[in-house]
Amino acid sequence: MSLRPHAPVLAFGEADGCLTVGGQNVQTLVEHHGTPLFLYERDFLDKRVSELRAALPKRISLHYAVKANPFVDVVSHMSGICDGLDVASKGELALALQTQTKVEDISFAGPGKRDDELKAAVEAGCLIVLESLNEARRLSIIAKSLGSRPRVALRLNPDFELKTAGMRMSGGPKPFGVDAEQAPEILSELAELNLDFQGLHIFTGSQNLKIDALIEAYENIFALVDRLLPHLPAALHWLNIGGGLGVPYFPGDEHLDLKQLGDRLSELLKGLSHAYDECEIVMELGRYLVAEAGVYICEIVDKKTSREEVFLVTDGGLHHQLAASGNFGQILRKNYPVAIANRLCQAELELVNIVGCLCTPLDRLADKVQLPKAEVGDLVAVFLAGAYGASASPQGFLGHGAAKEMLL
Ligand SMILES: *Cc1c(COP(=O)(O)O)cnc(C)c1O
Repeated sequence: MSLRPHAPVLAFGEADGCLTVGGQNVQTLVEHHGTPLFLYERDFLDKRVSELRAALPKRISLHYAVKANPFVDVVSHMSGICDGLDVASKGELALALQTQTKVEDISFAGPGKRDDELKAAVEAGCLIVLESLNEARRLSIIAKSLGSRPRVALRLNPDFELKTAGMRMSGGPKPFGVDAEQAPEILSELAELNLDFQGLHIFTGSQNLKIDALIEAYENIFALVDRLLPHLPAALHWLNIGGGLGVPYFPGDEHLDLKQLGDRLSELLKGLSHAYDECEIVMELGRYLVAEAGVYICEIVDKKTSREEVFLVTDGGLHHQLAASGNFGQILRKNYPVAIANRLCQAELELVNIVGCLCTPLDRLADKVQLPKAEVGDLVAVFLAGAYGASASPQGFLGHGAAKEMLL
């Protein structure tokens, strides 16, 4: 395919010079559904999950972190191909409860769960991941009043960091989980509460493309859990080792070598003691499962030249795809891979800037990219829009309205 984006795009196809998603022509889809559009490819989701399962040790359960893409059709599809769903709010819990995933395989983490959220989780019967001792005490009281004893896990903020992660979620002072140093004391207090202790949860970070760093983090996780084993109030039945697998967004980024990751993780699991025999080991992934399955399509509404630079002004922007504008976790703005969706094979190129329709200089979709020469009415495709796109963007900003989402 002659998509020619600077990072490898594995999903989608091309027919008559036009991008296809799930075998459907994007130009035709736009004629029926308008722009802007988020299109997600079902076959790619299936392929990603089956490749991952083939590479990872059999005993690892694969959970989908709903936060990455809570579009109802995507969640429902992921529910059918993953072993569980991880949610982080009452709203996400309600979404997960509508799917075919059994409630035992739904886990609810997140700092700052309100009482009504804890109540909803107890009533549903999902696993609740505790983020503090205070939360454990509140949950215990709520559960007692409802006459039940919820299954819980304790989230740890480890005493190590995931090296080279795009977004660090552990190590140092953090609002997530309890510090590893405080864990023995908190675990002994959990034993006194009206809670059914199942295990531990450690999420070290996101968007990691280095296998050495990922494996080192998993090694550190098992070493930490080993140290805490004597302090657990009950046998270890559940251990969530996070995920953190990254996807290539930018020039120079490469796909993870899944086989190597799987082989090294297998070796690591072989060394585990009998304390883990009855333990389900969970990996929770969001971005890695869905990011590459999505593309954001918007239409060029104006083309202009300013001081020798060409600007393609689209009807999309950061209100739908904040991450591509560089304002979601990036320090230096870099371009996401982009294409002119209806001119994939055109030879004549032009150096352009692509911007959104919002009245703010932050609303940039691509800076100085060489693309097939485009005109008003043509379609811009921004790849890697399957994770942290629509739901992680300020869709109310400037009142343009939300983008339509479709799973094809
Ligand atoms: C955000 C988050 C995830 C998903 O992270 P990805 O990088 O999208 O895979 C998993 N677990 C927890 C606890 C999270 O906060």
